[in-house]
Amino acid sequence: MADSLQHTLKTVFGFHGFRSPQQEVIERVVAGEDVFLVMPTGGGKSLCYQIPALHRDGVAIVVSPLISLMKDQVDALLANGVRAACFNSSLTTDEARRVSSQMERGELDLLYVAPERLMQSEFLERLATLKLALFAIDEAHCISQWGHDFRPDYVQIGRLRGLFPAVPIVAMTATADPETRKDIIRQLGIKEAAVYVAGFDRPNITYTVIPKQKPFAQLATFLNGRRDEAGIVYALSRKRVEQVTERLRGAGFAAAAYHAGLPDEERRRVQDAFRRDDLRIVVATVAFGMGIDKPNVRFVVHYDMPKSVESYYQETGRAGRDGLPSEALMLFGMGDVMTARSLIENSDNPERVRIELQKLNAMVAYAEALTCRRRALLAYFGDQRDHDCDNCDICTDPPRRFDASDLARKALSCVYRVGERFGARHVIDVLRGAKGQRILDLRHNELSTYGIGADLSSVEWDNIFRQLIHLGYLAQDFTRYGALGLAPSARAVLKGETQVVLGLPRDVAQVEEKSRRKSGAGEGAHRALFEELRALRKQIADTAGVPPFVVFSDATLVEMARNSPKNERELLSITGVGEHKLRKYGSQFLAAIDRSRTPEADHAALAPDLSDTLRATLALYREGLSVPEMAARRGLKDLTIIAHLEELAAAGLDIDLRRFVDADKIPLIEARLEALGAVTLTALREGLPESIGYNDVRLVRGAWGRGRQC
Ligand code: ADP
Ligand code: ZN
Repeated sequence: MADSLQHTLKTVFGFHGFRSPQQEVIERVVAGEDVFLVMPTGGGKSLCYQIPALHRDGVAIVVSPLISLMKDQVDALLANGVRAACFNSSLTTDEARRVSSQMERGELDLLYVAPERLMQSEFLERLATLKLALFAIDEAHCISQWGHDFRPDYVQIGRLRGLFPAVPIVAMTATADPETRKDIIRQLGIKEAAVYVAGFDRPNITYTVIPKQKPFAQLATFLNGRRDEAGIVYALSRKRVEQVTERLRGAGFAAAAYHAGLPDEERRRVQDAFRRDDLRIVVATVAFGMGIDKPNVRFVVHYDMPKSVESYYQETGRAGRDGLPSEALMLFGMGDVMTARSLIENSDNPERVRIELQKLNAMVAYAEALTCRRRALLAYFGDQRDHDCDNCDICTDPPRRFDASDLARKALSCVYRVGERFGARHVIDVLRGAKGQRILDLRHNELSTYGIGADLSSVEWDNIFRQLIHLGYLAQDFTRYGALGLAPSARAVLKGETQVVLGLPRDVAQVEEKSRRKSGAGEGAHRALFEELRALRKQIADTAGVPPFVVFSDATLVEMARNSPKNERELLSITGVGEHKLRKYGSQFLAAIDRSRTPEADHAALAPDLSDTLRATLALYREGLSVPEMAARRGLKDLTIIAHLEELAAAGLDIDLRRFVDADKIPLIEARLEALGAVTLTALREGLPESIGYNDVRLVRGAWGRGRQC
């Protein structure tokens, strides 16, 4: 059997080998056994039921909570030549009828259904008359009240085992929590199921946490370094989502907001544009969640701290499903802890409050940790590692330490002086000698510690307080709005008996500089070809009305760019190229790769210092495209393309900027240049006809400047 499974893996899906534990799981399901599979996002759960569906008689019924998710899965299967369909409320009556009859005639290998649809008695009766290959329950944690995504619709699925005793059930989830796992097995009645828990590590994700100082500027710095990449920015409230989106747009980023308060239509539009690589950045609340199966999400930023390590891990896990290097950045500030705290305390279920506070504390501890992030995360999920990961901010840039004994003494004694009744914000105000009314009312300006810390900024103090709490010198009483009190160990510090060593805070720019970015698509010429292939993929996908990743994954394009296959046989050896896709897209991709090999490709040799993005624009310039065409192909603004062309020209490449300006405008602009020299665009444009735009002036000025130099 192993051989024939391997054969299916290669010919249908284009993959060369199974990941652990795919093969074992698949063998069991093919043999008719139940399996419970816990695997992180991007681990490869889908194959665990898709291959059995092809190796067992009858149709496989896949239960999936979200319609958008189903559609992508079905599109991806169809693209591989697998007979799949979905059955849900989004179908028209005609479509539903067609799917029904396909199902009844045995023309489907997989059918995706929403849980409420599946459990309708009429539908169940029809299933009873058919040959069923298996039931696959995706996002199985939705059945458990313990889980973080409980869905009442899922409860009914628990009846399947009783109704169809002979049909194997594969239940899948990425939830790590052992309590929830047990509950899923109980609810589904699959006590005999073989349980597989795959490692939780996501080695391709780089974790970074930085102190939140000027969050928007920090975010913008980060995004500026990732101009061509897609990602998600999570914020805690709808209002914040709106604000951040607006500011990003204002700063020229292609961003859109997503939260539960927006109309369904708008949310669909945003999600769709993101999936289709038409939108680069989604700023969202946690409402932007399960529906995202876009594999090439390159970064996830937490603008605010999430409320548990589970949420953090799940949200960051949406980056890099394709296995390519990806990033998780969190901005962490003390204020967030207070906000999260008050949200939790709004609940009137004391047991719930207790659990959530514990989870929040664990999250804070993670954010403040000065040890390898991955180790901390995996340890949280019960997977203890004995080595650092070398792929997180702490590993690549260990925090510098300094002797903070004096500062700690000031901080602790000020906490004492204000009577251990105030939060960090107020204590810091006193330390810094602030003159607010509250301080005067409380007569805290008369304390001996008033103003003794004026030489540090409140951000710096904030950082010190956070670490003092984390190290156990200060205790934060959450039932009293975060009032700080001295812990027993504070005595020795106050008496000067203990040295306090703290880490120096870092900022994104600094982290950036240190951790050399590992680009997903590789360097130089490979990157240019990757960009070309990506543009081709986008064209094909748009024509077919599917998201680009349905055509090929980024990982597949990277491998194509690196290996430049010359013929069908070589192309077939690329991961992700199966026989169906080879027939469908093979010639187009081979042609594109071939073009990159012809003399044109020498541009790499000609100008070895060009950045990847300039190379990609250069390649399109040489295809003879107009500025708007280039912009569309690259998903960039016209202005950006013009800037690229200018840079290319300045780098000495043979770029005729005037190719993009109407012939009759050129002499007018040149006359102005002769008269004034290469002054500002505004000055040059003054007095020129309305029809001549800034871009025209800019292009001609660029060309003119070059003429002067030689
Ligand atoms: P999950 O459902 O666990 O989040 P998927 O099933 O969507 O993950 O798989 C994640 C990615 O890994 C997909 O792009 C998929 O094509 C790829 N993948 C899965 N199994 C393999 C394999 N054996 N070899 C190569 N790629 C694989
Ligand atoms: Zn690490």
